[in-house]
Amino acid sequence: MPKPRPHSCVLPVLLPDPKFELRTYAYVKELVYDKQAKKVKGVRYVDTRSGEEFEQPAGIVILGAYVFNNVLLMLTGGIGEPYDYKTGKGAIGRNYCYQVSGNVVTLFFENKEINPFMASGAHGTYIDDFNGDNFDHGGLGFFGGAWISGGTSNGRPILTRPVPPGTPRWGRDWKRATAKWYGHAFNIGASGCNYAHRENFLDLDPTYKDVLGRPLIRMSYNFRDNDYKMAAYIGEALGKLGRAANPTVMSSPAVRRGDYKRRALSVHAQYRRNHHGRRPQDQRGQPLLPSLGRRQSLRHGRVAVPAERLLQSDRPGRRARLLVGRGHHHEISQEPRSTRAGVI
Ligand SMILES: Cc1cc2nc3c(=O)[nH]c(=O)nc-3n(C[C@H](O)[C@H](O)[C@H](O)COP(=O)(O)OP(=O)(O)OC[C@H]3O[C@@H](n4cnc5c(N)ncnc54)[C@H](O)[C@@H]3O)c2cc1C
Repeated sequence: MPKPRPHSCVLPVLLPDPKFELRTYAYVKELVYDKQAKKVKGVRYVDTRSGEEFEQPAGIVILGAYVFNNVLLMLTGGIGEPYDYKTGKGAIGRNYCYQVSGNVVTLFFENKEINPFMASGAHGTYIDDFNGDNFDHGGLGFFGGAWISGGTSNGRPILTRPVPPGTPRWGRDWKRATAKWYGHAFNIGASGCNYAHRENFLDLDPTYKDVLGRPLIRMSYNFRDNDYKMAAYIGEALGKLGRAANPTVMSSPAVRRGDYKRRALSVHAQYRRNHHGRRPQDQRGQPLLPSLGRRQSLRHGRVAVPAERLLQSDRPGRRARLLVGRGHHHEISQEPRSTRAGVI
C-alpha cells in the first residue's frame, strides 16, 4: 500500500474526532458549482448500496479524487475552461504528465550473495546525480533526468527469476540458470521526469459513459522527444554504473523506447502538472485556480505537483489498448525484455 495516501495516514487520525464523520459508499457524481460566484457549494453523491442520490452542501470541498476523477468532476461541473490542444487554450485537462521509467540493467555476480528475499519495497540505494538539473545538460538536447537506484525490492519465487541474456526462456537450461542466478543478481533501474506537452491532456470521452451516465475521462498521452533523449542518456549512465561494479555478466541496459503503454502499476504516478511556473508564459496557461475565484472553495489534490523530481517504482508491462496522440486507438504489443529479472 502506498505509504503517503490519506487512507492509511490521515483517516486513522481523524476517526476518533467526534466532529468527524466518514460516509462510506458515497460516490460523488457531481460538484454543485455556482458559476457566477465561482464557488463549489457542495457535492451530489450516490449511495452505491441503494443507488439513492444525496446533495451535501459544504463550505469547503476538497477535491481529492485523484487526477482523473478530479479533472472529470471539474469538466462535468463546468469549472474553468476545458483545455483544447488545437488552440492551446483552456486549463482543465491540460499538462497531464506521467513518468519515464523502464530503464534498467541487471547485474549478475557469480561469487556474491545478493539474498533478494531480504528486501522490501523501499529497499535500495538511490542517487540523484542524474536527476533534474543536477548535471550539466550542455549539448545534450533534453531537459530533466532521472533518479537511479540499485537494490532488490523482493525475492518472490515466481516474480524474481533473473537470468543472463541469451538464456533460453524455458526448459532444462532455463531451470539451471534460474537456480544458479536467483541469489546472485540485482537491478540498477531509473525513473525519469516527464514534462508537459501540448498533445498530452485529459478530456471527456465523446463516446463512452460510466454507470452514472457521465462521460468517461479520456487520456491522450505519449512519450515525446525529450523523454526518449533523456531515457537514452540515462540508459548509458546505467551501463557505466553497472560495468563499474564489475559483474560477472550484465544485461544490455534496457532503454525506454516506443509508445506509452498503460501498465499494471501505471496509475501510481499520474500527475497533472498544473504548477505555477516561474516565467510569465508558464503562468499564463495555468488559470485553474483563478477559475475558482478568489475565495476558492475547492482544494485539488495531486494536480499541482511541480515537474522536476520523482521517486516512483516500475514494473514489467502488459498488453494494452490505449489512446495516444490525437485520440486514435493503437494496439501496442509488449516488448521482449532482455532478462526476466524483477524490475526495481
Ligand atoms: C500500486 C501503487 C503503488 C504506489 N506506491 C507509491 C509509493 O511507494 N510511494 C508514493 O509516494 N506513492 C506511491 N503511489 C502513488 C500514491 O498512491 C498516490 O500518488 C496517492 O495515493 C494519491 O493520493 P490522492 O489522495 O491524490 O488519491 P487517492 O489515494 O487515489 O485517493 C482518491 C480517493 O478518492 C476516491 N474517489 C475517486 N472518485 C471519487 C468519487 N467520485 N466520489 C467519491 N470518492 C471518489 C477513490 O476511491 C480514492 O479513495 C503508488 C500508487 C499505486 C497505485
